[in-house]
Amino acid sequence: MPARTGEQYLAGLREQPREVHIRGQRVEDVTSFPGLANGARSIANLYDMQHDAALQDEMTYISPTTGAPVGLSFIAPRTKEDLERRRVMMFHWARTSYGMMGRTPDFLNVSIMAMAEAGDYFGQNRPEFKQNIINYYEYIRENDLTLTHTLVNLQRNRHQMATTRDYNTDVALAVVRETDAGLVVRGPRVLATLGPLSDEIAIYPVRNARLAGSEDAWRYAFAFAIPCGTPGLKFLCRESFDLGRSTFDHPLGSRFEEMDAIIFLDDVLVPWERVFLFGDVDLCNNLSPRTNQYNHSGHQVVTKNVAKCEFVVGLASLMVHTLGSETIPQVHALLAELIENLEIMKALLCAAEVNAAVDEWGVMCPALIPITVARNLFIRMYPRMAEIIQLLGSSSLMALPSEADFDGPLAADLERYMDTDTASARDRVQLFHLAWDLAGSAFGSRQVLYERYFQGDWMRNASILWDRYDPEPMMQQVRDFLARS
Ligand SMILES: Cc1cc2nc3c(=O)[nH]c(=O)nc-3n(C[C@H](O)[C@H](O)[C@H](O)COP(=O)(O)OP(=O)(O)OC[C@H]3O[C@@H](n4cnc5c(N)ncnc54)[C@H](O)[C@@H]3O)c2cc1C
Repeated sequence: MPARTGEQYLAGLREQPREVHIRGQRVEDVTSFPGLANGARSIANLYDMQHDAALQDEMTYISPTTGAPVGLSFIAPRTKEDLERRRVMMFHWARTSYGMMGRTPDFLNVSIMAMAEAGDYFGQNRPEFKQNIINYYEYIRENDLTLTHTLVNLQRNRHQMATTRDYNTDVALAVVRETDAGLVVRGPRVLATLGPLSDEIAIYPVRNARLAGSEDAWRYAFAFAIPCGTPGLKFLCRESFDLGRSTFDHPLGSRFEEMDAIIFLDDVLVPWERVFLFGDVDLCNNLSPRTNQYNHSGHQVVTKNVAKCEFVVGLASLMVHTLGSETIPQVHALLAELIENLEIMKALLCAAEVNAAVDEWGVMCPALIPITVARNLFIRMYPRMAEIIQLLGSSSLMALPSEADFDGPLAADLERYMDTDTASARDRVQLFHLAWDLAGSAFGSRQVLYERYFQGDWMRNASILWDRYDPEPMMQQVRDFLARS
């Protein structure tokens, strides 16, 4: 099946029963369940864009195996032009939710592509693993499947220092036995963003926590992918931040709830053809840097960051225009900070493409340092961006009638007192509902937490940047300076 439509995506979710729980209840159909359905609809809209006559050329490319159009985020880039095409496509998707859905399917499409292109890396572990990852990539590309992933073990005891975790004292997903049919795995994992709304789940090692060299570390060294409906796989959702309110009251939460879930795997059988890596601790620890998966997922992440920054700049500018605060110097300082963030993200995205190079697997790979810097910076930028929206909005974020109030007993008071010099009462209230949903509501708070953590915590990512950066030329400059007479 070439590039899917939204309806085909939704039908796929319905056709593959999966075990999803939310607030003590088993969800029968994620596409109609309140709190999940609108998020599913938003993902479906992305797939529909692949069939929009005005956009199709920018959303798809020709499959190398079937000659049919498939999603452009699956492309194995060989040139800088390929990277640009992919970024244009990813922008189209990112801009539909203004970056509020971080986990659009392109995030994992590019990651699996990178792993498949680096098939020989997996082949070192067992020769058949190379073909497994290549077959899997082709399978998800040709069927246009949606993936989630879980890389992190549930927190119980993070007493270890530096970049290792002690898997004996932790709650860790582990291989409990090997059979002729495949691996049997048991344990929980966090955090499957988009999990209930995905077709497949990929489980592979996290970049910023290395497996320690304990005797049974091999049990935790694996990479595989299985359908979300696999027997024994259960998704436990957090509460939904789509509270069933109108798009006026909760403009973001009512549309872009991508849901996060803990997963539990109760002796789940992973068929051998879905295993990409097993038992080799070194290969497991080096999977991300050696396949360059992080650079490619970063290309999607930074594209999303630009879309998000643009939206926040637009929102903040409208807020100050509405409140008439645009001549105040302190307000300028806050707006300038948002503009700086946007321009830094754009510049780093550009730098990653301009400095892209063909990697050892023959793939045109976005440059690591600009991608890493953009990803690390955004962890600190985004909470500040939400704070700036709060600082600019102040009481207008709480002097916030609901849509129903405009038809209630106080409607005349609202019209009389809540307009500003530049906005009607209704337009002002609608705008500040958006600001609150971005910077204060449960949906907005989750956005902040997402940006802080979804790609690992800032401290460990900082250590990785330091590890990968070569300061030697700069150190030499200083040595030369000190040597001057
Ligand atoms: C909204 C959201 C969505 C997410 N979606 C996904 C997803 O789709 N897939 C996925 O795999 N993961 C996802 N995650 C999980 C994310 O990868 C983790 O939150 C992140 O890697 C940090 O791990 P942790 O939460 O277990 O925190 P911990 O690793 O326990 O860290 C918590 C704090 O303690 C410090 N700390 C703990 N242990 C150490 C240590 N050994 N060395 C140094 N510092 C330490 C950290 O600096 C950090 O500040 C998501 C997280 C959030 C919040």
